[in-house]
Formats: sequence, structure tokens, C-alpha cells
Amino acid sequence: MSPYCPDCGGKLNWDRKLKQYSCQSCGVTFNEAELENAMDKKFSRNLTDVEKTRQRHDDYLDWWLSEKSKKKK
Ligand SMILES: [Zn+2]
Repeated sequence: MSPYCPDCGGKLNWDRKLKQYSCQSCGVTFNEAELENAMDKKFSRNLTDVEKTRQRHDDYLDWWLSEKSKKKK
């Protein structure tokens, strides 16, 4: 599963040279720490809004949690 832009939901590409993610849609870039912060903010902000986009968030969350658990190991 690919990561998605926390800003616009577009697909993020991993740039190996720059070691950062860049969004195909809006062009925003994140290093790993910045993306983590943005995602944490997004999830806490949207907790009360889960019903509207539950499926998408579930996908998002699965991906995000798997990325987080990979990092810790
Ligand atoms: Zn974007």
C-alpha cells in the first residue's frame, strides 16, 4: 500500500536521492519526521469525523500503523 498526502490525499512518491516523500498532486514534500507529524495531526483532528471517510481512514491507518511498527522493530 502506498502512502497518501496528508494535505490533499494524493499519492506520495518516495524520493531516494532526497530521502523525502513528494506528493504527485500538490507537490508538497515531507521527510519521514514531517510526514509522521502531519499524519498524527491528521488522525487526531479527524477522530470525530470518522464516519464520513471510515473506509479511507481504515486503509490509511492500516498503512500508517504498519509503517510505525516496522520502524520500532
Ligand atoms: Zn498533496
